[in-house]
This record gives sequence, structure tokens and C-alpha cells, in this order.
Amino acid sequence: MTAPINDAAKDSDVESLPEQRLALRADVLIVGAGPVGLFAAFEAGVIGLSCHVVDALAEIGGQCIELYPDKPIFDIPAIPVCTARELVERLAEQCRPFGFAIHLGERVISIAQRDDDKRWTVTTDQGRVFDVAAILLSAGNGAFMPQRLALPGASALEGRHVHYAVRQLAQFADARVIVAGGGDSALDWALALRKVARHVTIVHRRETFRAMAATVEEVKRAAAAGEIDIVIGAISALHAPDGVLDTVAVKQIGGVVTLPADQLVALYGLVADLGAIADWGLDIRAGRIAVDTSGYETSRASVFAVGDIATYPNKQKLILSGFHEASLALRRAYAYAFPEKQRVHVHSSYDHALSERILGTTPPPASASDEGA
Ligand code: FAD
Repeated sequence: MTAPINDAAKDSDVESLPEQRLALRADVLIVGAGPVGLFAAFEAGVIGLSCHVVDALAEIGGQCIELYPDKPIFDIPAIPVCTARELVERLAEQCRPFGFAIHLGERVISIAQRDDDKRWTVTTDQGRVFDVAAILLSAGNGAFMPQRLALPGASALEGRHVHYAVRQLAQFADARVIVAGGGDSALDWALALRKVARHVTIVHRRETFRAMAATVEEVKRAAAAGEIDIVIGAISALHAPDGVLDTVAVKQIGGVVTLPADQLVALYGLVADLGAIADWGLDIRAGRIAVDTSGYETSRASVFAVGDIATYPNKQKLILSGFHEASLALRRAYAYAFPEKQRVHVHSSYDHALSERILGTTPPPASASDEGA
């Protein structure tokens, strides 16, 4: 999936690699579209680097959107107050003039450096391949992944009878659906599913929900009207003879109840997982990537780490720090993309091509320029 703020990858960006899928070619691959990755995309454009951005989530914004979208933020320079969601919207707007593609719902799983030209071949779990001169890891705490059921047989049913997201309501038409969880996602999807499913039951450990008051009220109203059942307890077993789910056991204080079910949607929230990044030969300390603060380069040349995933003495996990780190890292990355050129510093307002692009009088470039900011 490619985010709407981007142009799809252009044909001119596509280059054939031997024995591989067509690769998307750019100067830099940004791994993570949290606030730091989004600002990095803007900075890349300002400096004259082309880039692609990848995020495992279906939405841009990282922690800002997943953990605290409506919380006010007070410590972004020149913005006295904005919500986390507003910040992400502003960052998306800021990088939009450059038209870089953001590939969402894809997790970067491998990086390999070529011996001949030292460029990187980077692969996602969706089979997309990038060919880049440098990699910028703005991967936060790692990719956000759904918290999965730790029950025998659950993984074998995943995608057919056990789900961690609702992609298409039609898949649940006329089904008996169990929605497990008590947060906003669980309640919102239970309310949406009741319109297509034969029956919807919310299974939650407690009587209280962790969702917006209006959503909780709507769920209670739907339960009182018999549109939804609410069962308090923890799912303890799945019964799926011949690989077809037919009942779910729920452990309660007084014993176990068995609920008929065709589909189970478990929405227990997200967990962050460093995943494959831990296997890339980087210097990892307590789950963070050690960097040299002169350019936020990791122990592997032309691989940079910025934002929450980076560690160094006195590191502060703040958005502001990540912006600074990304800005310096990309200036160092420029030397890998254009080893034959010296980047000349020019303030952005004196760069006419850049001003025109940001002010909207020229279309996004087909390829990177070498003009400095
Ligand atoms: P993240 O926001 O974590 O984004 C990283 C992204 O990378 C994620 O979307 C993830 O899915 C993606 N990713 C990771 N691995 C992969 C992979 N292999 N492939 C593809 N994608 C991947 N900071 C402030 O400055 N001010 C505040 O007021 C503030 N309030 C906060 C309140 C709370 C409750 C929390 C939890 C944090 C707060 N912070 C605040 C901290 C701030 O949110 C983080 O410093 C910031 O989000 C870090 O941004 P990031 O882009 O480095 O990482």
C-alpha cells in the first residue's frame, strides 16, 4: 500500500538487478514513517536526495498516531501546542512537495551490501526491493506488530479464522464473530461488524473498557438492544476440527464458557519488535543502535540510525532530538549518494529551485538534484 501523500514510484526509478525482482532505486531508504522518518524525508528533499519511506503500519506517524494521537505536544520549536496527530499531518504536508513514495504495511526484513558499488539491496516482507546508496533507520522501538494470541492452534488459523486486523468487513458477512479486547479498536470494530455479521460477541477481561467514552456508551447501548453480546473473561482455547473454527472457550472466575464462533478478531493492541534489524550486524545496546554523533552513522558505513532507535551518551528520546539527528545523518549520507560532489550549504530560502518546489510552482523531481540547502 502506498500512502496518498506520495506519488507512486516512477518508472525511471526502477532498475533491474540480476536474479532479483525489479528494484526501486533511490539515494536513501528511510525505514520508519514516525515523526522522525517523515522529517527525514523532507530533509532529504531539501538536500537533494531522493528517497523512499517504508513503514510496517498502515498509517504514517509512528508512536504519535499509535500511542497518543490526541495528546498535546508542547516542545516542538515554533509550535506552542499541537496534538500528536496534528504534528504528523504537518510533517506529511511539509514533505509532500517532494513527492516521495511512502510504502505502508510493509516491514523491512533484510539489507545486503553489494561488493562492487557498495550500494544496498533492501527487501520488505511484501517482496519489494530497493536499491539505495544509504539507509536511514528511523525505526523507533522497532516495527509495531499486533499482539498475537498465545494459544495452541491460533497461528494455523491466522488469516482464515483468527485475525489481528479487519481488512474487509465482507469477510465477516453472516459469521459468528468474537472480538477480543477492550480498547478503541476492539469496540469500534465490534460496532462496525455487527452490521454485517450474524452475531458479534466482545470478550474482554474486565467490565471496564479502555476506549473513548462515546464509543463505550454506544457499545453499552448496542448490548442493551441485543445487537452485541459482552462476555467478561479470557480466551483460553480454540476448537477447530479439520482446521475450521467452531467454538472459543472463555475462562471466567466461575469456570469456562464455550462460545460458538466462525471468526475471531483479537485486538489486544500493538507491541514493538526490533525484528530483523537485530540481525544486521549493527552495534545494538539494550535494544538500541549505537551511533557516532558526528553524523548518526552506525557501525556499518552508510547505515544511519536516528530518533528513538538510536543510542549515544545523553540521548533524549524526543521528537526534537530525532529531527536534529536526521538532518545531520542525511548530510553525511549525501557523500555516499554523490561521492564525486561536494555539497555546498545554501540556506533554503536562497535556493530558487527549492523555494519554487515548496511553494508549489514546480512539480516533484523525477530524480535527485545536487543542490544544497
Ligand atoms: P516512532 O515514532 O517509534 O516510529 C517508528 C516507526 O518505524 C514505526 O511506525 C514503526 O512501525 C516503524 N518501523 C520500525 N521497524 C520497522 C521495519 N523493520 N520496517 C518498517 N517499519 C518499521 N516526544 C516529544 O518530543 N514530545 C512529547 O510530548 C512526547 N510525548 C510522548 C508521549 C507518549 C505517551 C510517548 C509514548 C512518547 C512521547 N514522546 C514525546 C516521544 C516521541 O513519541 C518519540 O520520541 C518519537 O515518536 C520517536 O519518533 P521515531 O520516528 O524515531 O519513532
